[in-house]
Amino acid sequence: MNHIQWFPGHMAKARREATEKLNLVDVVIELVDARIPESSRNPMIQEIIGQKPSIIVLNKADIADNKVTNAWLEFYRSQGLPALAIDAQHQKGLKALEQECKKIMAPYFEKQKAKGVKPRSIRLMILGIPNVGKSTLINRFVGKNQAQTGNKPGVTKAQRWLKMGKEFELLDTPGILWPKFEDPKVGQNLAITGAIKDSLLHMDDLALALIEILLERHPEVLKKSFQLTADQLETLTKVEILLEITKKMGLKDDYGEASQRLIIQYRQNKLGNISLDLPIERLV
Ligand code: GDP
Repeated sequence: MNHIQWFPGHMAKARREATEKLNLVDVVIELVDARIPESSRNPMIQEIIGQKPSIIVLNKADIADNKVTNAWLEFYRSQGLPALAIDAQHQKGLKALEQECKKIMAPYFEKQKAKGVKPRSIRLMILGIPNVGKSTLINRFVGKNQAQTGNKPGVTKAQRWLKMGKEFELLDTPGILWPKFEDPKVGQNLAITGAIKDSLLHMDDLALALIEILLERHPEVLKKSFQLTADQLETLTKVEILLEITKKMGLKDDYGEASQRLIIQYRQNKLGNISLDLPIERLV
């Protein structure tokens, strides 16, 4: 996993590198985590992408809450932003993504055709914060053998294009941007999903935040996974629920360890498909 420490110098460099790549491509694929589409968006993304056509792609849809993902797609589309959900890991939704890119480029190619210019490959790049699945998507898009991952930092190299069938070319390295830092809720969501480094100190806070979400939106998970009763869910506080979960895990009063296990269970999708960010405007 990619736990970069972001400092202003790194951000400026990341932005510069992303902009260099942007200049080379026709369409930007902005990748986010479907469980936290807003929390995993770079704060300056719109400014960085500018007028370049882009698609917001909600990856890891396989472990997000389908209903919430659909509400997000509707929300972004209502803002005029093409949006799609995919599961890069299992190559789901990639054809639809190619179709969307073609749709975006169709008017341009029509014009070129009218001028007698033959259509060329559509050039794409992937852009997003660490851990949203950029390398995975590059690998799946191109086929295992062609894409290279594990780019060495500090080594400048020419941009390489990877062929994706006959109609597309993809930049071999993604644009990597920094996550949002200011909003503590965002930090929490990023940490719960494992997108940013967590410290042990934080774990019980993360567990309590997750328990709050489960209480509000997925009480059935608390009942099923930890045998909590409806009565307990009504009367106990978050902290008391964490202590109950600790006992159910056979950890006596070691709620730090229980917190860690709960968060790991969430990350491994053992609690079911749970999205953390909601498009409030749409769902309430
Ligand atoms: P990057 O830092 O953006 O390049 O992210 P990676 O491609 O390294 O992926 C980060 C983690 O997310 C890895 O453990 C991947 O296996 C996992 N991952 C990527 N795409 C998906 C997906 O569609 N579904 C699920 N469940 N996991 C994914």
